[in-house]
Amino acid sequence: MRFRSFTARMLAILLALSIAAPPLLEARFQPTSGRDAFSREQEIQAGQEAAAEVTKQLPILPESDPLSRYVSRLGQTLASHAPGDKWPYSFHVVNQKEINAFALPGGPVYVNVGTIQATDNEAQLAGVLAHEISHVVQRHATRAATKQMQAQIPLAILGAVLGSRGGMMGQLAQMGISFGVGSYFLKNSREAEREADLLGTDIMYDTGYDPHQLAAFFEKLQSQGTSRAPTFLSDHPDPGNRSQSVAAEVRTLPAKRFQGDSQEFQAAKRQAGGMKALTAQEIAQQQKTGNATSSMGQLSRADVMPSGNMRNFQHQAYQIKYPDNWQVFGDTSSSVTIAPRAGVADNAVAYGVIIDGYQAESNRTSLDDATHQLIQQLQQGNPGLRAVGNDEDIRINGVPGKSIDLIGPSPIKAQNGQAVRERDWLVTLPMRNGDLLYVVFIAPDQDFQTMRTQAFEPMLRSLHLQQQ
Ligand code: ZN
Repeated sequence: MRFRSFTARMLAILLALSIAAPPLLEARFQPTSGRDAFSREQEIQAGQEAAAEVTKQLPILPESDPLSRYVSRLGQTLASHAPGDKWPYSFHVVNQKEINAFALPGGPVYVNVGTIQATDNEAQLAGVLAHEISHVVQRHATRAATKQMQAQIPLAILGAVLGSRGGMMGQLAQMGISFGVGSYFLKNSREAEREADLLGTDIMYDTGYDPHQLAAFFEKLQSQGTSRAPTFLSDHPDPGNRSQSVAAEVRTLPAKRFQGDSQEFQAAKRQAGGMKALTAQEIAQQQKTGNATSSMGQLSRADVMPSGNMRNFQHQAYQIKYPDNWQVFGDTSSSVTIAPRAGVADNAVAYGVIIDGYQAESNRTSLDDATHQLIQQLQQGNPGLRAVGNDEDIRINGVPGKSIDLIGPSPIKAQNGQAVRERDWLVTLPMRNGDLLYVVFIAPDQDFQTMRTQAFEPMLRSLHLQQQ
């Protein structure tokens, strides 16, 4: 008798719950504020271009791998509850040890094996995926990029520029916009994080996972410090009071019984636990030894990498050391290009260093002004060239100079025919006669850091102006 009345009460509660069903997430959903210059198609295209790069740079598990299949199923289930525009989501597992996850514009989502290893339950993994899906829904990356572009081009014509037949990716590259691995635009603001947490909470709730676990996982990483999740924590910074915000959002929703771990999750945990995932360092090492034909035409990295041994070049105005497998083009009184033979084609330098003099408009021009005049002149010869960031003071063997980073289109074409992005590091030094000596260090963006440490910085440290 007692047993029966208890059942009846349970039924009543269940009925009450179903009557008080939460409003559809579609109705609760607040699209983020902030302008987005990208059309839906452009957003998807930008994400797919970046995804092609990611596939070259990171060890992605094959789609047929059971771990990939599981993460893809979980991701698609969560994505089917996402509000707003429906994006072509895809979910990928990176065989990397560090804890990380990121989303590209328009749908591609990546999660590291290390992340799966670190989760305590399925809801935590669902929380990471729901959070990344939310970055896609709210279009955080392209909104951040739009902000940057607006600084360069008035918004009124930005859409036309992106829509021009010249190709959107080339335009984006010229403006320094890319969404690949390590992209500035995938580093989310605290505001974007707050939005991704709230929307992620709703998506988890609607899918049937306990949203508290989203905050629990993020906070677990936070408390462990940055050693295993450095990129994750810098790309997804703590908006503050993560748990409280999630808990407050959950309180606005009717109580609900959440699902526990599926057998598939337990199998995925076992598989991930037994995997030998690569560290970021090991991945970088593989990249370095690998052939880079994909983005450099026929050029392989081995053809351009500095040897490690230096040789001296004596010019009338300066002396400098350079890698002994590179070549000096020019003579002791002319402008000079020092580059690997394979790095120069059709008079354009893809990898290497140009050293030249520049005579400012007036002898009394400050180093600052002369440097900016020089940049304008360089831009006339290369309209795609743009300064990124501010110029900085630098000292080369006692001589105070200026250092500034520029970006522009490289003479190297990607497979799709578009110029890859080039980084140009300009250093200017005042010479005794009042002219500037300037040095431009050139490499495609993706190789710049390696070139900088292995060739450009040692070269710059060896540069001595002649005492004339
Ligand atoms: Zn985030």
